[in-house]
Amino acid sequence: MTAIIIDGKATAGAVREELARCVAELKDRGVHPGLAVVLVGEDPASQVYVRNKDRAASEAGLAVSTLRLGADTDQATLLAAVEELNRDEAVHGILVQLPLPEGLDENQVIEAIDPAKDVDGLHPRNVAALTMGRAGLVPCTPAGCIELLDRHGIEIEGRRAVIVGRSMLVGKPLAALLLARHGTVTICHSRTRDLAAVVGEAEIVVAAVGVAGLVKGAWIRPGATVLDVGINRNEAGKLVGDVETAAAAERAGAITPVPGGVGPMTIAMLLRNTIIAAALANGLDAEEILASAAAAR
Ligand code: NDP
Repeated sequence: MTAIIIDGKATAGAVREELARCVAELKDRGVHPGLAVVLVGEDPASQVYVRNKDRAASEAGLAVSTLRLGADTDQATLLAAVEELNRDEAVHGILVQLPLPEGLDENQVIEAIDPAKDVDGLHPRNVAALTMGRAGLVPCTPAGCIELLDRHGIEIEGRRAVIVGRSMLVGKPLAALLLARHGTVTICHSRTRDLAAVVGEAEIVVAAVGVAGLVKGAWIRPGATVLDVGINRNEAGKLVGDVETAAAAERAGAITPVPGGVGPMTIAMLLRNTIIAAALANGLDAEEILASAAAAR
């Protein structure tokens, strides 16, 4: 078997076109969705991510502002900046690019963000909403994984999903989303025994670890769907995922490449969260606006 390659770049492009229509519709109703990105320090990977987010948001018609603060910024200054964005009515989404430089308390910063503007979905109120199955803003990478499955006709209900990685950013929220869609979910981590056997049971495998090639091709159950969230640089300086892609593609039914798989979806979901936040802040039905743009596709 040779797997279908799930083209995340193309899918994200289609999503972003729909979202641009949503933005146009919101503007017709007098709402101009605004995203504020806060970047502290000079981390090169963060600079690239922020540039990409900035470009994608502008292309979709969002108003984007990036607040750049020096690496020596103290906690109080950062919290004050977040407070100011919380008060700014033109800002509907706030994203503080993580990781923060050493010495800054990430949890305290995340908790300072107005949950209604928390487009990363990391505020405890949004985490609780997700766990309880209530409306809230959902973390972008897990939301992107679900969107990829949905747009490729891959069923979740009743199927065995195995997630490798239990971070607050990816593994845990994705488990909640898959569970909400009636998947049977197992979360693995660094203490999991016989990872190969657990992964081998999965009809949907998600790797979110940060170790190049950790998930071996031979582990994949024939016909399974494999989503590779990992972004690693190999010895040759090339971007690679957490899965042995070529070997896994021999057994899988469908697989995401790295780059060009889950990554582009993350940014698309950030735009979607900003649109949802802007609609809700203005008393509009976000679901209806998203659905009408999707129906026009
Ligand atoms: P974290 O480092 O926060 O979490 C990694 C997880 O992997 C932990 O739960 C850890 O277990 C587990 N783990 C580590 N080693 C092993 C092992 N040998 N066997 C099984 N599990 C293991 O990472 P993130 O979730 O933030 O990110 C994961 C990857 O996804 C990274 O490569 C990151 O760059 C990428 N990423 C990609 C995004 C995208 O848009 N495509 C967005 C976000 C992240 P334990 O808890 O026991 O330590």
